[in-house]
Amino acid sequence: QPIIVFDHVVKEFKDREAGKGGKSTRAVDDVTLTINQGDIFGIIGYSGAGKSTLVRLINALERPTGGTVTVLGTDITKLSEGKLRPIRQKIGMIFQQFNLFSTKTVAQNIAYPLKLDHWRKDYQDRRVAELLDFVGLKEHADKYPSQLSGGQKQRVGIARALATNPQILLADEATSALDPETTSEVLDLLKRVNEQFGITIVLITHQMNVVQQIANRVAVMSAGRVVERGDVYDVFAAP
Ligand code: ADP
Ligand code: ADP
Repeated sequence: QPIIVFDHVVKEFKDREAGKGGKSTRAVDDVTLTINQGDIFGIIGYSGAGKSTLVRLINALERPTGGTVTVLGTDITKLSEGKLRPIRQKIGMIFQQFNLFSTKTVAQNIAYPLKLDHWRKDYQDRRVAELLDFVGLKEHADKYPSQLSGGQKQRVGIARALATNPQILLADEATSALDPETTSEVLDLLKRVNEQFGITIVLITHQMNVVQQIANRVAVMSAGRVVERGDVYDVFAAP
């Protein structure tokens, strides 16, 4: 069951200094790719390959210059900001630098998306408690991000991304700032997110071992193109 479909997608950026008629960069160059419901889909490639741009097209933080992007059955290519809202609510995102609010506590960070959606305070509290339990941070609810380790910060990031019950979780280099042991712990948590809640995960990384540890499918990007794809086992099998 397809949940994200890229059909001949192109994304060009005008080079900043070039001005009118100047050169442009094809960050994504004719990508056709299907991600199925329940996948942990790894997108791997060197820096500058176009991975972030591809993933930002999924929540329409970027709009394609060509082709179509379909998410949860809706063609979002030209959807207005208003109509994108219900789709964006079904997509959570986590980041390399965690992007937590430094002046909010752990519990307040996790509650933030619920607050934006005007959920009742008692529901917010119940949901935050549930999520703290799920990510194993119950004892840290009232701490600030600066009092947490990198792995704990990413657990908060994951809890916050899950707060509104998304169907898709986008992870942009989510373990790249962590040491190998912490990386493994966070990947195990992402695996539980996938297995317990059936959430589809799209995971960008430049680290092959990350993809090998949790992804079932993978696409290899280079210079804006998907140069290889398939089951992780097949793509990384020795020739
Ligand atoms: P990756 O995530 O694989 O490192 P990116 O998607 O960030 O790759 O970048 C792909 C290419 O697009 C790079 O050449 C980058 O410089 C360019 N690019 C990305 N975002 C922009 C932007 N907003 N403006 C201009 N060029 C951009
Ligand atoms: P507002 O009038 O502030 O826009 P809503 O209409 O979004 O608030 O929500 C009204 C009430 O419905 C809220 O107090 C909240 O508890 C509940 N609620 C909001 N969103 C949902 C949802 N997605 N599912 C179930 N209940 C919701």
